[in-house]
Amino acid sequence: MIKILANDGLEADGKLLMEEAGFVVETNKVAQDQLKDILPTYDAIIVRSATKVRKELIDLCPNLKLIARAGVGMDNIDVEYARSKGIKVINTPRASSKAVAELVMTQIFTLARFLHIANREMAQVGGTQFKELKKKYSNGIQVSGRTLGIIGFGRIGQELARLAMGIGMQVLATDLNDMEMDIHIGTPDVQNAALAVKIKTVSFEKVLRESDFISVHVPSIGKALIGTEEIGRMQDGVYLINTSRGGVIDEQALLDALESGKVAGAALDVFVNEPNIEPRLLNHPAVSATPHIGASTVEAQHNIALELADAFIDFFGEV
Ligand code: NAD
Repeated sequence: MIKILANDGLEADGKLLMEEAGFVVETNKVAQDQLKDILPTYDAIIVRSATKVRKELIDLCPNLKLIARAGVGMDNIDVEYARSKGIKVINTPRASSKAVAELVMTQIFTLARFLHIANREMAQVGGTQFKELKKKYSNGIQVSGRTLGIIGFGRIGQELARLAMGIGMQVLATDLNDMEMDIHIGTPDVQNAALAVKIKTVSFEKVLRESDFISVHVPSIGKALIGTEEIGRMQDGVYLINTSRGGVIDEQALLDALESGKVAGAALDVFVNEPNIEPRLLNHPAVSATPHIGASTVEAQHNIALELADAFIDFFGEV
């Protein structure tokens, strides 16, 4: 019997498909420090970003045949080491791109109109200081016509470009690889129409210098891509968004730039050292924070689970 531990949860339809294929799927979370005792009895593990599958754990699980990341980034898994031990490692790179791109758009509107902080203050003093709050939050900006810089023009970056152009933003995209591609605005299956717009990537420098909003969509590279120097080359009052990985925008550099006003606002879904997050970031009035929910929509989790169920059935066969 194939035993699968979905340690960070698994959407119900995907779980059901796997069970119908004859697998045993356990979704009760095992604490990280207890995995060494539990995981050796399983054939496969499914994780999101919380559970870590490191070399030491892999060494204790000779029975393990498949490690699946329900999502994109695999920095919580020692991928090369697992593969060197003959363990297959998979992820679901496409299933959540739309979900992340939609969160970024939400944050662009949020930052532009102070929604995150206005919401908090309305709940506290909206009934007594309505006029003061109205004055305080009356100088938001219109997003349409502004320039969005996208750093990392892969799946999520392209999806974001599509949404941003749809609301009239100018898009500047940069990537390690030069690219030129058609981005389709509109959804043919819904509106029966789509408009293709050609986008050619530009230099990193141009994105830094000319963008009103900058959103990063690169994989974790082990060091900050945006630090004090890069922020220094941006426009005064720029807005920064990070839904990629904690530390891709240096947190201290960001805090300094928020304090000086160089950066007008930041939206963060990912943090260094999650879940032990720098409190000054969480408490900063110009920061709109979310708890790493970029991929967490009903649709994305459904797609992820179905994609995994297919992959598991391919790999193990029906039993
Ligand atoms: P992708 O591989 O499709 O695209 C990444 C792009 O970044 C590639 O085109 C690559 O060439 C480019 N790139 C790499 N290093 C770069 C650099 N230094 N400068 C410029 N470009 C660079 O990946 P994706 O599916 O778009 O995902 C992007 C990121 O989003 C990943 O880090 C992933 O972990 C993260 N993510 C977060 C969530 C969330 O819940 N917040 C969900 C899904 C993905």
